[in-house]
Amino acid sequence: MTVLLPGATLGVMGGGQLGRMFVHAAQRMGYFTAVLDPDPASPAGLVSHYHIRTDYLDEQGLAQLIQRSAAITTEFENVPAPALVTLGAHRPVSPSAESVAIAQDRAQEKAHFQRCGVPVAPHAVIETAEQLAAVGDSLLPGILKTSRLGYDGKGQARVTTREELASAWEALRRVPCVLEKLLPLAAECSVIVARSHDGRLVNLPPQWNLHRDGILAVTQAHADCLPAATARQAIEATRAIAEGLRYVGVLCVEFFLLQDGSLVVNEMAPRPHNSGHYSLDACDVSQFELQVRALAGLPLPQPRQHSPAIMLNLLGDLWLVGGETETTPPWDRVLALAGIHLHLYGKLSARRGRKMGHLTVTASTAEAVRGTALQAAELLGIPAF
Ligand code: ATP
Ligand code: MG
Repeated sequence: MTVLLPGATLGVMGGGQLGRMFVHAAQRMGYFTAVLDPDPASPAGLVSHYHIRTDYLDEQGLAQLIQRSAAITTEFENVPAPALVTLGAHRPVSPSAESVAIAQDRAQEKAHFQRCGVPVAPHAVIETAEQLAAVGDSLLPGILKTSRLGYDGKGQARVTTREELASAWEALRRVPCVLEKLLPLAAECSVIVARSHDGRLVNLPPQWNLHRDGILAVTQAHADCLPAATARQAIEATRAIAEGLRYVGVLCVEFFLLQDGSLVVNEMAPRPHNSGHYSLDACDVSQFELQVRALAGLPLPQPRQHSPAIMLNLLGDLWLVGGETETTPPWDRVLALAGIHLHLYGKLSARRGRKMGHLTVTASTAEAVRGTALQAAELLGIPAF
């Protein structure tokens, strides 16, 4: 592949906050950007040189993106695979349509993990009434998850009995699902890697993640956030998963650390991930710069984390305290704390559970970063962790 030097235009499918941070990273390095997203007020569209406002499968929109861009990436997982196939016929596209298609389907994704020798939760694929009836009792209690189009815990139901399982599948309109055994989690973690066309792979240090109501709430990234052996194992598993896909671009793999100390892979995201946002402020190369570099065919340096970091997600709930009218959180008081990096995505209205921004805290020690993060959380009404 030819290297695309700054001055070229990089395209991105999707205009959410991940696209916005990709655009920022690309522009900082002197690239032009083109975003395809139907929403006139999309976070990435608002800051891109070009914003193509069409549906993801619109032929004219895709043709414009091809015409504008020297190479194209994606920022959300559910971008229709056929659109990537169209783009890929004309321009370098990373990650590939094949990798994205596997990540979009929980059943295929789990099969890929198993092929790579990485343990997954005990599970069953449920696409027919026969498969539903054949589910073993050992999978209960479990979580029924739609195979496709889930995010932030949407499209999931916890079930304890066979009756609950059957009615949950009805409620999900009998779409293809995966039933996973409910596992005793001690913690969750994730690893972000970037892999180049020529197979070089670099990683961010593994991060510890706390989810609330199925949505990422807190990420901690510092030397003692995970046992060293777990961190090494998670990196090796992520490497195997990326290499098994001959992946090009940034990939995040999420894991469960079980109470017995074993590691189980949960899912992967074929793009930068919410749990890697701290890298913007705490590493010498962020996950978004890695995405730019991988897409442009530039060298991938191994990132170096220079500060312990904690990231707090800022959900729409913070704007809706004490009712449904929007109030602005006390940013001035939060920004008075040392080592606070505020990122707001420019979304025009707050909704409960909507990711409006994030806050990264950096400091010189893990204790200091935790102290400041807890103070910021208290000022914002985010529960302690
Ligand atoms: P996202 O894509 O935003 O990460 P998602 O909708 O794909 O979310 P999952 O990652 O499958 O959802 O699940 C969300 C959270 O629910 C997990 O991070 C974990 O806290 C919990 N969870 C999911 N599966 C299991 C399981 N088998 N056992 C125990 N807890 C689970
Ligand atoms: Mg998840």
